[in-house]
Amino acid sequence: MLGVFHDLETYGHEQVTFFHDKESGLKAIIGVHSTVLGPSLGGCRMWKYTDEQAALRDVLRLSRGMTFKAAVAGLKLGGGKAVVMADARTEKTPEMLKAFARAVESLNGKYITAEDVGMSVSDIDTIRGITNHAVGGSNEGGSGDPSGMTAFGVFHGMKAAFKFAGLGESLNGVRVAIQGVGNVGYHLASYLSAAGAKLIITDIYPNQIEKVVQEFGAEVVGPDQIYATDCEIFAPCALGAILNARTIPQLKCKVIAGSANNQLEVDSDGFDLFNRGLVYAPDYAINSGGLINVAAELDGYNHERVVNKVSQVYNTIENILEISRNQQIPPHQAADALAQQKLTEAKKLQVKTKTTV
Ligand code: NAD
Repeated sequence: MLGVFHDLETYGHEQVTFFHDKESGLKAIIGVHSTVLGPSLGGCRMWKYTDEQAALRDVLRLSRGMTFKAAVAGLKLGGGKAVVMADARTEKTPEMLKAFARAVESLNGKYITAEDVGMSVSDIDTIRGITNHAVGGSNEGGSGDPSGMTAFGVFHGMKAAFKFAGLGESLNGVRVAIQGVGNVGYHLASYLSAAGAKLIITDIYPNQIEKVVQEFGAEVVGPDQIYATDCEIFAPCALGAILNARTIPQLKCKVIAGSANNQLEVDSDGFDLFNRGLVYAPDYAINSGGLINVAAELDGYNHERVVNKVSQVYNTIENILEISRNQQIPPHQAADALAQQKLTEAKKLQVKTKTTV
């Protein structure tokens, strides 16, 4: 594979390991981007990649993202991710999962795995039969479905962004347009409804829509109408790359705050939002509640502690938006700057500790 070290240098990885198990057919790559703040944690994605280069790119990109996400969330964790090159519906076997678990175990805790696309809670249970370096299983002390906590964090981050935009502290009567009312979107609708917000929702699945309409009395618009909906807040909770040259000019909201990963199609879209005066709460900072929830297993899961920590997403978003204003950079860059600052401080501390021991 040409250019591997060039890629590692570009992304700044500590270690990337390739695993192969002939009997089960496992082909996996584990990317440990950084352990500066602690052991690297990130989900395992099982996906039928077109080729090895695509799998490597994905693991590099995703594991780097986890470093930034954990740093901004104030967790003592680094960033890692794994990819298994297989079709989760047709090729996943217990033998393959066990071989993957042995691969994780061989890294001696430098990488802790969790659920991602193509993996389930029961898969994590199988993996935990071989290695303890896995979180998100159904075992006692397991953190369970993270989507409620992700939504709780989004709700708090949204309030911070709303206040920062000069629109007030209460969401009572505020119109929030939610794109996608799946796991996270549903819970977000519930928090917003309790806060008195007026919901406008869209989804491509009628069942999801029906549930939210019945329980919270939301107004429904078509998937293409959600961008131009009259509202104060737009909450993308479905897909990535939905903030782009086609959609941004349609937006009527003042604040963008939702759970979806990789909301900006390209970097320049973040500048476009900033120049238009829209307040954007960066995706990986506002959706960190799920990571905070699963990471809590490592210290002995305590629900009250998790709720308290996730509600601090408010402070994180406030902090990022202030950096953005003070440095006149868009919030997505301010989030990266905050993460870099935390990593630099931790590195300095490590050097100091090493030289004084
Ligand atoms: P989900 O699959 O349960 O929900 C997504 C919903 O979006 C579904 O109901 C789907 O029908 C809908 N949807 C898909 N395409 C759409 C479109 N074009 N227009 C409108 N609706 C559409 O997923 P989720 O777990 O709720 O996650 C939502 C987003 O948040 C994803 O981007 C995910 O990566 C991100 N996220 C989730 C978590 C978590 O804890 N689940 C944590 C961090 C980030």
